[in-house]
Amino acid sequence: MKYIGAHVSASGGVFNAPIHAHNIGATAFALFTKNQRRWQAPPLTQSAITEFKQNCQTYSYQPHQILPHDSYLINLGHPERSALEQSRAAFIDEMQRCEQLGLSLLNFHPGSHLRQQDEDLTLAKISESINLAHHHIPNIITVIENTAGQGSNLGYRFEQIAQIIEQVEDKSRVGVCLDTCHAFAAGYPLHTDEGWQQSFDDFARIIGFKYLRAMHLNDSKGALNSHLDRHHSLGMGQIGTDCFRKIMQDPRFDNIPLILETINSQLWPEEIQWLKQQISIF
Ligand SMILES: [Zn+2]
Ligand SMILES: [Zn+2]
Repeated sequence: MKYIGAHVSASGGVFNAPIHAHNIGATAFALFTKNQRRWQAPPLTQSAITEFKQNCQTYSYQPHQILPHDSYLINLGHPERSALEQSRAAFIDEMQRCEQLGLSLLNFHPGSHLRQQDEDLTLAKISESINLAHHHIPNIITVIENTAGQGSNLGYRFEQIAQIIEQVEDKSRVGVCLDTCHAFAAGYPLHTDEGWQQSFDDFARIIGFKYLRAMHLNDSKGALNSHLDRHHSLGMGQIGTDCFRKIMQDPRFDNIPLILETINSQLWPEEIQWLKQQISIF
């Protein structure tokens, strides 16, 4: 089964997200459970939680079709102690929100060294942050997103993600979300047949498909290896449509949320429809 959707708005309340997802023909969706650009957020109210669960039931969204994304402010590898603690506390709060909503996944960007700390130490801090969060919140699976390697963000090489996973104690509760735009910008040539095969062979060998818990399907405005995190609508960027057709036809991408974060939300119904059509075209 392929679960296809987009990162929909939750403005007005988290319970609106499944309605938006349903309206665009999605069988999966992503959302922020709080304002992603602020540290503080009021706790979820019981009525918001109940309404969210009801709407998910009404429109047939199970937890494994839903991919909450954490705040952009969180840096789980932060070089400074107090800032790291602030990030860890905020991440645990995000985990708690997911648990309250009956969800099972939490997608996050690994972290940045801010040019103040070496790569190995940053990756080790990220693993330690994941371990801490696992101790605090018992059920949520933490899903590491690969990055474009913009600025000092880590997680743009599969080896870096593997190194984080290696130091996580409970490996049943860590996974990976592969963003196609980020991978391409980081130097994985998903636009050619050979490059596509090689990139996912590398993923299988270095990380392993058992860890693949979600995908972000985005075309890229930036060039291969540009390290620019600039999403584009499918087929309008440098990756092109073939990459996405192959993902739809490959069973290694079954049963996980496949989420559009493409720039024009008006096109989401069309993009979802197009992706669904590719499943049966050979
Ligand atoms: Zn992300
Ligand atoms: Zn993404």
